Amino acid sequence: MDCLFCKILNDDIPSTKVFENENVLGFVDINPMAKKHFLFIHKEHTTDINDLTLTQPNHLVEVFNAIHSFTTDSGLSKTGFRVVTNQGREGGQTVFHTHFHVLGGEQLRGFGS
Ligand code: 5GP
Ligand code: ZN
Repeated sequence: MDCLFCKILNDDIPSTKVFENENVLGFVDINPMAKKHFLFIHKEHTTDINDLTLTQPNHLVEVFNAIHSFTTDSGLSKTGFRVVTNQGREGGQTVFHTHFHVLGGEQLRGFGS
C-alpha cells in the first residue's frame, strides 16, 4: 500500500520519533503549526477517523492511552495541549492514514479562545 505514514512506520521515510509502543507511534510533524506539534498514529492502517471508528474502535483507546503517556511524561499535560484529527478533503486531511495532531508548547488560539 502506498501510504506515507506506513512508510514512516517501516522506517522507509525518516522521522523524529517521540513515542513508540506495541500499537502506536508518535513523531514530530514536518511542518509544525505550533511550537510543539506531534502526530500519533496506530500501527495498523485505517484511512480516517470514520473508518477507524467503524472497523477498529479499540484503536481510539490505544492511541489516546499513548497520548496520555506521552503528554504526562513530557510535561505537556501540565500546560495543556490540543488534539485534532482531520477527516476528508474539506476537513483538511492530506494523509490518508488516521492520525491525531497533538499541538502545544504555547498559547493556542481559535476554537473560541
Ligand atoms: P493532515 O493534513 O492529513 O491532517 O495532516 C498531515 C500532516 O502530516 C501535516 O501536518 C503534515 O505537515 C505532515 N506530514 C506530511 N508529510 C510528512 C512527512 O514526510 N513527515 C512528517 N513527519 N510529517 C509529514
Ligand atoms: Zn498507512
